Amino acid sequence: MEPDHLPPLREVIAQHGLLPKKSLGQNFLFDLNLTRRIARAAAPLGGFTIVEVGPGPGGLTRALLMEGAEKIIAVERDERAIAALAQVQAAYPGRLQVIAGDALASDWPALVKGPAKIAANLPYNIATPLLIGWITGPIWFSSLTLMFQKEVAERIAAKPGGKDYGRLSVLCQHLCEVKKLFDVNRSAFTPPPKVTSSIVQLVPKAAPHPACAIADLERVTAAAFGQRRKMLRSSLKALGGDVEGLLRQANIDPELRAEQVPVEGFARLAAIAGA
Ligand code: SAM
Repeated sequence: MEPDHLPPLREVIAQHGLLPKKSLGQNFLFDLNLTRRIARAAAPLGGFTIVEVGPGPGGLTRALLMEGAEKIIAVERDERAIAALAQVQAAYPGRLQVIAGDALASDWPALVKGPAKIAANLPYNIATPLLIGWITGPIWFSSLTLMFQKEVAERIAAKPGGKDYGRLSVLCQHLCEVKKLFDVNRSAFTPPPKVTSSIVQLVPKAAPHPACAIADLERVTAAAFGQRRKMLRSSLKALGGDVEGLLRQANIDPELRAEQVPVEGFARLAAIAGA
């Protein structure tokens, strides 16, 4: 028995024939010490609705409940996992709502009312689109505590000056405070994925500064990082117009390459390009 008096996760999986499916990005966590560490990283949990994508057999869900989550909304695509979660619902009456559905197609603001946080061990195949959808849409959550492949986590948190710094870094860090918290070895998962994973926390900024339209920011970074070896005066030609004038106005040296420009520099460029 585990401390929550529910059967061990391996047993739950066997009972429900929950053989992991690659197509659903199913790499399960069984180690309660680890899932509780992830849950604690998202703390405080009380007073918030915790949204979890892909609860699977419920490893992280159980940890979130043990660490004090009063209300969880969990969206899961796999019917077998939904059946397995009934036991967790019974053990924590009224605290776990399971929604059968596709997280990519969910209408979050309609689903979640009041203060909310997102905590999830995301299916890797849809992790980046989910993250981008959340942070560029209406903000209904105060933090995201998420597991990604380490390589994606490093791109999200990268500082200027290296190969990891790119469009995803600029978008995430313009909109959120970003912290890469800790790595999780592949051996912690069943089945083990090919690569190491990492937990990242993002906290949306109340007023991203300098203000710019996200579409303009994406247009500018797509051009700049699309040809990242070139100087900006050349890579930004794709935007049309007076590129050198635009760069001067944004106070950016036209001879820099994309990876040398800080996040605020791209936001300034986007604001001017979109004006
Ligand atoms: N949270 C569990 C854990 O940590 O052990 C499982 C995590 S596993 C990496 C990803 C989970 O997301 C799986 O349970 C999978 O069925 C679910 N999933 C995959 N695609 C999904 C989608 N589009 N919407 C909702 N859940 C999805």
